Amino acid sequence: MQRKRIIKVKDKTFAVSISERTLKSQIKRIADQINRDYEGKVPVFLAVLNGSFIFAADLLREIDLPLEIDFVKLSSYEGTSSTGNVREFIGLNVDITGRPVIILEDIVDTGITMAHMLEILKRQNPESIDICTLLLKPSKLQAKLDIRYCCKEIPDDFVVGYGLDYDGFGRNTKDIYTLIK
Ligand code: 5GP
Repeated sequence: MQRKRIIKVKDKTFAVSISERTLKSQIKRIADQINRDYEGKVPVFLAVLNGSFIFAADLLREIDLPLEIDFVKLSSYEGTSSTGNVREFIGLNVDITGRPVIILEDIVDTGITMAHMLEILKRQNPESIDICTLLLKPSKLQAKLDIRYCCKEIPDDFVVGYGLDYDGFGRNTKDIYTLIK
């Protein structure tokens, strides 16, 4: 099937910016690193919903370790700009005390969401916490975060696709698209 270079999501137009092939190879690169770094360990992966569901599904199938996965939710975004308000943390059903934890996030923008999540998770005394994000906007980062695994750094643009949405839509594409108008 011919992939579209330009898509419309609701009232906005987006152009393809990261291909499925690039995503796949970057995810494999990160998975190989995790497989090496966590050899002999049994990590708990916490996928941050909703945006990371496709990333988590693709990454975890490249991970060759005994692992647990849980899905958590904490979001600070509405529309196309960060509100700065952090909403509630829900969904953690695994006891992470004394366990190595890897957080899977779709995109780190200001980092406020991630900083808040780290604060909450640290209260449960995990052995360690690493952040693994599909995308990072380095120029927007405000919070002091140690991001161990990042598939791709991107400019300060709004992106959709491959799990990321615009107002609830646009998550179901194989490539990632950037807002053009
Ligand atoms: P932060 O707290 O780092 O500013 O925001 C993180 C959250 O904002 C991400 O988990 C994601 O849901 C949302 N977000 C940030 N930038 C983008 C973007 O370019 N596109 C989409 N769809 N969501 C974004």
